[in-house]
Amino acid sequence: MQLTPLPAFADNYIWLLQHQQQVLAVDPGDGQAVLQWLAREPGLQLDTILVTHHHADHTGGLNDLVLATGARVFGPALEKLPVPCTPVAGGDEISWGPLNWQVLDVPGHTAGHVAYWAQPADQSPVLFCGDTLFSGGCGRLFEGTAAQMLQSLDHLSRLPTNTRVCCAHEYTLSNLRFARTVEPGNMQLAAYELACQARREQGQPTLPAVLGQELEINPFLRSRVPAVRAAAAQHAGAAAPDDAGVFAQLREWKNQFK
Ligand SMILES: [Zn+2]
Ligand SMILES: [Zn+2]
Repeated sequence: MQLTPLPAFADNYIWLLQHQQQVLAVDPGDGQAVLQWLAREPGLQLDTILVTHHHADHTGGLNDLVLATGARVFGPALEKLPVPCTPVAGGDEISWGPLNWQVLDVPGHTAGHVAYWAQPADQSPVLFCGDTLFSGGCGRLFEGTAAQMLQSLDHLSRLPTNTRVCCAHEYTLSNLRFARTVEPGNMQLAAYELACQARREQGQPTLPAVLGQELEINPFLRSRVPAVRAAAAQHAGAAAPDDAGVFAQLREWKNQFK
């Protein structure tokens, strides 16, 4: 089963998964980019589209793709998409080829954001997490609270550590600059940043990330680690009263970070 990050716009990835002649696309912000990719290999059939949230850079290609391919679309039950879709929410399952996608509720970036996780028989698991979890970072809180996002990331953190994390944006290097400011003593983080810089210099994506690695380097998955808490408190000028408060301090710090 082949997994491809198709670059779109400035820094989006449209994830494509291929099983035999069947193709599944995730968050197709740009329909023409997907159609051009499909045209390179005759016989491929886009039959399923998964949408994580309603933002236009994730949904802008839906109309074109549904018209051209008739693909079925699954999207978050709490959000409105530009095409008719089968609404899904946490606990639902979607069968595609040999896979069973599990739907996870991960509100925070948007109110109804969902993620999709599956375990191929002979490969490590795959997570499509949209704009919730990025390598070294997390999505901005446009419609949700820090407490919701923390709970969503906690949920993702409990997935198998070999899960391939397919984020929707190439934000890794700027995220890691922030992560290094929060945790200057984290040696795994320093090594990971060097590896990601090398990949970008070669024009390669830094993704998919690996969940176990993210747990070691991503400050937004590490907001209960004493060094991260201390850094957040020092930057904010006061210790937060609880876990959600620490997370809010970190998110606010990142929002201001240049
Ligand atoms: Zn978004
Ligand atoms: Zn986005």
